[in-house]
Amino acid sequence: KICVSQDFDFFYFVQQWPGSSCDTKQGCCFPQTGRPASNFTIHGLWPNYNHGSFPSNCKSVENAFEESKMSDIIPRAEASWAALSCPSKKKTNSTNSDNMKLWKHEWEKHGTCSYSVLDQHAYFDFTLNLKDHIDLLQILLNKGIKPDGDKYSVEKIREAIKEATGFEAGIRCNTDASGNSQLNEIVLCVDKSAASESFIECPILPDANCPEDVEFPIFGVSQFIDTA
Ligand code: 5GP
Ligand code: 5GP
Repeated sequence: KICVSQDFDFFYFVQQWPGSSCDTKQGCCFPQTGRPASNFTIHGLWPNYNHGSFPSNCKSVENAFEESKMSDIIPRAEASWAALSCPSKKKTNSTNSDNMKLWKHEWEKHGTCSYSVLDQHAYFDFTLNLKDHIDLLQILLNKGIKPDGDKYSVEKIREAIKEATGFEAGIRCNTDASGNSQLNEIVLCVDKSAASESFIECPILPDANCPEDVEFPIFGVSQFIDTA
């Protein structure tokens, strides 16, 4: 039986700091398009329920991922939705780029569950527009919170985002190769109607797994490091 109900309550808009993938035990790999800019990149736009659980993999015949629908999206997505996980060593006959595999995965796992609101092209277009709307790195830099490998208070990070956007953000951490907790993902919430500029207060914040102070790792150019 095919489940046609694609109800959900709101979206999580999730951005990741590339340095926090690359300094892990697992490490990272850059996509064929090369090293991403020293900026947050998009992880995904995830439909969610108010009580915290979420639908996933709502695949059906009508919402199958189509690479051809990405053509005019690709330049923007390459710039701000880059894949950083290393490709699995499993042999595959796929000719998809690393980025295309991530986009396909995000569409199939999450995007298909909001298909009632956004078709594939609209899902990627909308998500990329959200990224252009809130410049998280600049918001943090304005408060002296820099990717310089130092530790920062999670409370200060959340305050900076609240002051600039009006909304509480979810902060997700992971650990670097030496076991230090670090800023990995920043989560904002978006209205399910997917109207423009529709950030909302999160009905429920994603699981908080950060200690009080977290590392903000260096990534790429060292322009953020104080040499004075
Ligand atoms: P993690 O292990 O990083 O917490 O989650 C792994 C994956 O599960 C995420 O990349 C995402 O696809 C999904 N996921 C984890 N937490 C949530 C959540 O709160 N809401 C939604 N929609 N997906 C989640
Ligand atoms: P999720 O299921 O957590 O939404 O997405 C994670 C999946 O996407 C994993 O299978 C991971 O290998 C792949 N992936 C590719 N590039 C990235 C990336 O840059 N960040 C994350 N979190 N996952 C990535």
